[in-house]
Amino acid sequence: MKIYAAIEAGGTKFNCAIFDENRNKLDSIRLDTTTPDETLAWVIDFFQAQRDKGMQFEALGVASFGPLDLDKGSSTYGYITATPKPNWSNVDLIGPLADALNCPVALDTDVNGAGLAEYTWGAGQNCESLVYITVGTGLGGGVIINGKPLHGLVHPEIGHMLLPKIDGVTGHCPFHENCAEGYASGRAMEHMWGQPAHTFESSHPAWTRQVEVLAQVCHNLLVSLSPQKIVMGGGVMSQSHLLPRVIEATSQSLNGYLTLPSHLSISDVIVSPQLGDISGLFGAFALAKNIAPA
Ligand code: ZN
Repeated sequence: MKIYAAIEAGGTKFNCAIFDENRNKLDSIRLDTTTPDETLAWVIDFFQAQRDKGMQFEALGVASFGPLDLDKGSSTYGYITATPKPNWSNVDLIGPLADALNCPVALDTDVNGAGLAEYTWGAGQNCESLVYITVGTGLGGGVIINGKPLHGLVHPEIGHMLLPKIDGVTGHCPFHENCAEGYASGRAMEHMWGQPAHTFESSHPAWTRQVEVLAQVCHNLLVSLSPQKIVMGGGVMSQSHLLPRVIEATSQSLNGYLTLPSHLSISDVIVSPQLGDISGLFGAFALAKNIAPA
């Protein structure tokens, strides 16, 4: 049985796991994201303990918060680059892990990882193209085309697409006044309305703005990338009233312009994740499996 190591590296937690080739989780640990030195040392200790028990990893997959340098020709390949998260800018994420685990290492963004997992085992099965959006503390998105995460110039940063300015509202992003993350992330909602998103009643005006912004994101994605699925996950999206309203508002925004294949409606395209909270870790496993030597 082949064994794979997986890390979902988040801004508050590092989820580490060992999988067999059939996607069974053999062991796992959740570690706090503190400083890079401390957190990476805990991560390495966890995997080293498995190796001491005789486990050999075919590969390690890492699905991480970013931004990341994914250019294999770059001297800073595998680094977290200019992140707003304190202490984590210009940190070599992959070098220490590759040295310690002594196996091939695949890296991608957390959202590309989650998208790859949904494409492979979840809401995107039988699709060629999929966008995975997470609306949680932050807002981000990954793009999968024919089973491959899209990198392009750097990698998609869907959360920072510009949207029409909202009168009297300054978005909560350190870089942009009117981007999607600045308007609609959980962090932005809390900043604008003075209470956490999960405490709002479904009738709260915050949701009206949220629906409008997320429908603009979906409109822009549908007309620019034409994905067969937009999978919308993350803590803020777990409000059950939200997705149907976003679907309706996207449909209104498109105003009949897109002619979908006859058997589909927008509600078949904009959907919830099927893998839930584990899509990030499954994504890291998928990255490992894809890079491991056959
Ligand atoms: Zn921004």
